[in-house]
Amino acid sequence: MLNVMHSNATETRSVYVHVPFCAHRCPYCNFTLIAGRPDLHEAYLDAIELELSRLPDVLEIDTLFFGGGTPTELNCQQLDRLFSIFQKKFQLIDGAEFSIEANPKDITSGLLEVIKRHGVNRVSLGAQSFDNQKLKVLGRDHQAIHIHQAMELLVPKVDSVSLDLIFGTHGESLETWHADLNQAIDLKPQHLSTYGLTYEKGTAYWKSLQSGALELTDEEVERNMYEHAIDHLTGVGFEHYEVSNFARPGFRCVHNQIYWTGKAFHAFGPGAARFVNGVREVNHRSTTKYLNDVLAGKSAVGEREELSPIDRARERLVFGLRRLEGVCIETLEEEVGFTVSEICGNEIDQLESRGLLQNQAGHIKLTRSGLLVSDSIWPRILVPNDG
Ligand code: SF4
Repeated sequence: MLNVMHSNATETRSVYVHVPFCAHRCPYCNFTLIAGRPDLHEAYLDAIELELSRLPDVLEIDTLFFGGGTPTELNCQQLDRLFSIFQKKFQLIDGAEFSIEANPKDITSGLLEVIKRHGVNRVSLGAQSFDNQKLKVLGRDHQAIHIHQAMELLVPKVDSVSLDLIFGTHGESLETWHADLNQAIDLKPQHLSTYGLTYEKGTAYWKSLQSGALELTDEEVERNMYEHAIDHLTGVGFEHYEVSNFARPGFRCVHNQIYWTGKAFHAFGPGAARFVNGVREVNHRSTTKYLNDVLAGKSAVGEREELSPIDRARERLVFGLRRLEGVCIETLEEEVGFTVSEICGNEIDQLESRGLLQNQAGHIKLTRSGLLVSDSIWPRILVPNDG
C-alpha cells in the first residue's frame, strides 16, 4: 500500500514535474504542451536540470509526480535521465508515492524496466475509453487493445495503476459508458478518474462547437453518466473520494491530496505552477520560451502571485469541498484565520438551503445534487456575492 505522509502545513514535501510533449494535440485538450517536437526533448532535459539547480539542498519528499503532456513521449533513455535528475535533488522517503502519467501505447517492457528501476509505484494511464469509435472521436492515437496490453504489463509490476476515462463525447450513449466502466473494472486498476468532456476555448472542439459542426452533449445525459459512474464504481467497492476520483481502499492519490488540502508543493517544467511559502508561481507556459530563457540562465518563472489571506482561504474551502469527506469547519477556520461567513458571506447557508451542501456535525460537504453541479458552486465561493 502506498502513502506515508510526513508533511505539515508549512513544509514543502511534494514535487510536480511537467513534461510538455505529446505526439499530437487531442482536439479537446488545452494543456500546456508542444506537439510533435521530439527534437526538443534533450534541450528540455538540459533546461530542467538547470531549473532544479536553483534549489540549494537535497530535499526529502513524500510525493513525486511526472505529468503532462505525456511523460512517456520521452524515450527510455531520456526518461532514465529525467528521473535521475530529480532523484539527485529529492530524496523520496520510505513509502513515498512516485507517479507518472502515461499513454497506453507507450507501455513496453523497456519502459517498465526503467520505471521499476527508479521506484515508480503509481502509473496513471490515459485510457479514456475502450470503444475504438469513441477514441477516434476523441482524437486519441491508441485503441482499446493498447490499454489491454499496457495493463497486462503494469498490473503485476506496479503497486497502483489508475485509468482516466472520459464520458459525454458526441453521440455517446449510457450503454457505451457502462461498457467502458465495466471494461476498466475488469482490468483491476486500483484507481479510476472519470471526467466529463469539456469544450475549452481555443481547442479544436471549441471551434467545431462554434461552427456548428459539433453539438454539446445534453446536460442531463452527462449527469446521468456521472451518476451512473458513482453508483456503479462504489457498488463494486471503489471509494468515491473526490468529485472525479475513485480508489480501492488505501489507493487514493496522495499527491493530488496535497493540492486539495492547500499544502505547499514544488513544480518544474514549462507551465508548471508551484505553491511555496504562500506564493504561487507559474513557469513560462510556452515550451520554447521556457527552454530559451532557462538555457540562457534566466528565470523559468513567468507569473508570480501572492494570494491575499482571504483568497487563499476561499481556494482552500473550494479544494476541500471537492473531497467527498468535505471540510471540518473548525479545522478550516483555525488554519486560515477566517470564519466561513468571513470567507464567503452566506453562500454556504444558501447552498445548504438549496440542498447542494450539507452540514453534518461541523463538516460541510457536497450532497449528491451538489456533486452533479459542483462546477457551478465553486465560483460562488471564490467570488462571493455579499448580498
Ligand atoms: S495526450 Fe493528453 S495531454 Fe496530450 S494532447 Fe492528448 S489530452 Fe492533451
